[in-house]
Amino acid sequence: MRFLILSDIHSNFAALEAVAKRARGNYDSIVCLGDVVGYGPDPNPVTDWVRKHCQIVVRGNHDRAATGDPVIEEFSDPAADAAIWTQSQLTAENLEYLRALPQGPLAHSNFWLCHGSPRDEDEYLTNKHAAQENAGWLTGPITFFGHTHHQGAFAMRGGRCWLVHRDRPLTIEPDTSYLINPGSVGQPRDGNPEAAYALFDDASKVLAFCRVPYDIEQTQTRIRNSALHPYLAERLTLGH
Ligand code: ZN
Repeated sequence: MRFLILSDIHSNFAALEAVAKRARGNYDSIVCLGDVVGYGPDPNPVTDWVRKHCQIVVRGNHDRAATGDPVIEEFSDPAADAAIWTQSQLTAENLEYLRALPQGPLAHSNFWLCHGSPRDEDEYLTNKHAAQENAGWLTGPITFFGHTHHQGAFAMRGGRCWLVHRDRPLTIEPDTSYLINPGSVGQPRDGNPEAAYALFDDASKVLAFCRVPYDIEQTQTRIRNSALHPYLAERLTLGH
C-alpha cells in the first residue's frame, strides 16, 4: 500500500491543494500527523478536506488550542491569537471533529503516528539526542512525527543514531528504527518555503521526501485580509 503522509497543514489550503495535485496517483491512503489548523487563513476548507480524505489523523497542539485546550497558554502571542481566531471561524462540525481527534501515538498499518514524539505529543524532536531518548518508547520500526516543521528522519540501530539524507529516497533497512518527519505542508520552517510531504510504499519499503511550490502570495493575501498577525504571512516566504 502507498501512503501520502501529511503534517502541519496549518489552515493553508493553497499549499494543501498543491500537494494533493502533485501527489495524485501516487498513493492509496492519506495519513495526517496533526496541526490541521492554526496560523493560516483557511481553517474550514482545510478541515473539510482532511475529514473527507484522510484515513487517520492524530491531534496536534494547534488543533487542541483552537478547540479550547489550555495548551494555548504556552503559545506565543501571534499563535495564541491565531488559535482564538481559528476557533471563531470553525463551523460547529469542524470544531467537534478537531476536538475529538485522538492523541498519538497511534498504530496504523505497519507504522506508528504521533504529533510531537512517541513519549510526549508536545515534544519537539529536533536532534539525535532527543531521538535516542525516545528509543524506549518506540513500538515498531517506523514512526512518523511532525510538530517541528522540519522535513527529515532519524535512523537508529545498535545504540547508534544518524540523520537520514532527505534529498534522496530512503529505503527502510532491517533491524533499524526510524523516526520520520514529512515536513510541514502549510508552514515549512526548514529554510525551504515549498510545501512538504512524504510518500511511503510499505511493499517496497521506500520513502520519498517531497516538496512542491504553491501560490504563497495567495495565502499571504488571505492572512493579511484577516485578523491574523502579518508576521504569519511574512514567514511563509522565509520558510521558517
Ligand atoms: Zn505545527
